[in-house]
Amino acid sequence: MAKPHVLVIPYPAQGHVMPTMELAQRLVGKGVKVTFVNTEVTHKLVIGNGLDQDGFGGLMKMVWIPDGLEPWEDRTDLCKLTISLLESMADKLEELIEKINEEDGSKVSCVIADDSMGWAIRVAKKMGIRRAAFWPASVATLASMFSFQKLIDDGVMDNDGMPLQDQTIRLSETMPPLRSTNLAWTCFEDSGTAKAFFRLVVEAVEAARLTEWFICNSATELEPAAFSLYPQLVPIGPLLASNRLANQTGHFWQEDSTCLAWLDQQPASSVIYIAFGSFTIINQTQFEELALGLELCNRPFLWVVRPGMTKETTYADGYIERVGSRGRIVSWAPQQKVLAHPSVACFVSHCGWNSTLEGVTHGRPFLCWPYFADQFYNEDYICDIWKTGLRLKKDETGIVRGGEIRSKVEEVLSNKKYATNAFDMKEKVTGSIREHGRSHKNLGDFIEWIHEKDTNQCQEST
Ligand code: UDP
Repeated sequence: MAKPHVLVIPYPAQGHVMPTMELAQRLVGKGVKVTFVNTEVTHKLVIGNGLDQDGFGGLMKMVWIPDGLEPWEDRTDLCKLTISLLESMADKLEELIEKINEEDGSKVSCVIADDSMGWAIRVAKKMGIRRAAFWPASVATLASMFSFQKLIDDGVMDNDGMPLQDQTIRLSETMPPLRSTNLAWTCFEDSGTAKAFFRLVVEAVEAARLTEWFICNSATELEPAAFSLYPQLVPIGPLLASNRLANQTGHFWQEDSTCLAWLDQQPASSVIYIAFGSFTIINQTQFEELALGLELCNRPFLWVVRPGMTKETTYADGYIERVGSRGRIVSWAPQQKVLAHPSVACFVSHCGWNSTLEGVTHGRPFLCWPYFADQFYNEDYICDIWKTGLRLKKDETGIVRGGEIRSKVEEVLSNKKYATNAFDMKEKVTGSIREHGRSHKNLGDFIEWIHEKDTNQCQEST
């Protein structure tokens, strides 16, 4: 019997490409043929950073389509990028699918699109192809997006999704409150970016109605209230390469694996791991305060200083010599392997959803330092719902001082309740992805659905 051929398409950001590639690999592992569609820029990054295509047994093909921006244009300008994706990619995707269907010998039988790329789901519907949405962030964040019409109707925001005032919102009694100015799309200072993201939100919510499956990289055990608000959302996570002892794929930067040997030399539960994902930018004052805080902690630390995270990356005089081999600084780490390593004691994190899942799955207490978008809500879950971490507080000038870092690291490590809660969460969450666990079963059912019918038997769901 011919293998089903699934086209998988993520939003072009590190935190979306990585979990979507992990999903794609789970499909490949179950005999599904996958064409993985990146934007051209993302494709080059991923291929250039050690993606071993042969590791997919010939079942996964990496392809690209343009994102609509000129090669020299700035992809960190999220306003520009988002508008370009929304306005230019649908036609390119349609052309790509037509070409595959003519030339490949196996037609595309299903499209799985990141729900942030809702237009891709519309393309699949138009072409009569079965479709599913994938959500790589928290379901609580998705629930806030799904509530946008109610928030407009209740006078919380205008028709462009902009808050009319700073107020507290409750999506459910058992979910943490949200500030209307801190939603995934309202948190941007620049109103152009906020409005562009709101367009993406509207498109994502409409696209969700066109799918038979909506799978989410989360677990019921992590956010039961959010899942009970929207029973059509199906938890299949956390999907992590480290859970199957595989290498994390889809890196935008070259990972420095030498830090694993350094971790091997450190005592158990001693190392502070600091990483802020792919977007966070901090100024020089903040950078120096963070460096100072790590020095003051007087413990081993592994710190990811991503290229571009600061303008200049200048350390105070003598800093590197003073911390010596106690501090290891890398430009990009094999993060899942780091968090799985027994030497790691705690995770100073920007609370991106993937980092959150990775820290929780490996039972690590957190020090939370959110930067933007959904990260503030993830921080609320870590600190107020799971109680596995503490917030790092900024002073009146907006800087997290070295003394604050030292005292919170001490607190999270000395008060055993954080380690105990982190261990309990780890047990619950990993239970979900083990055989008989809910996420594990859901993923199995989803893959069975993919195998059920091919394009010729395509059924329209709407
Ligand atoms: N990551 C990594 N090495 C690093 C820092 C981050 O591999 O040094 C990975 C991390 O494991 C996670 C992803 O990059 O899977 C970042 O996603 P997240 O949602 O945490 O944050 P974002 O980059 O979207 O802000």
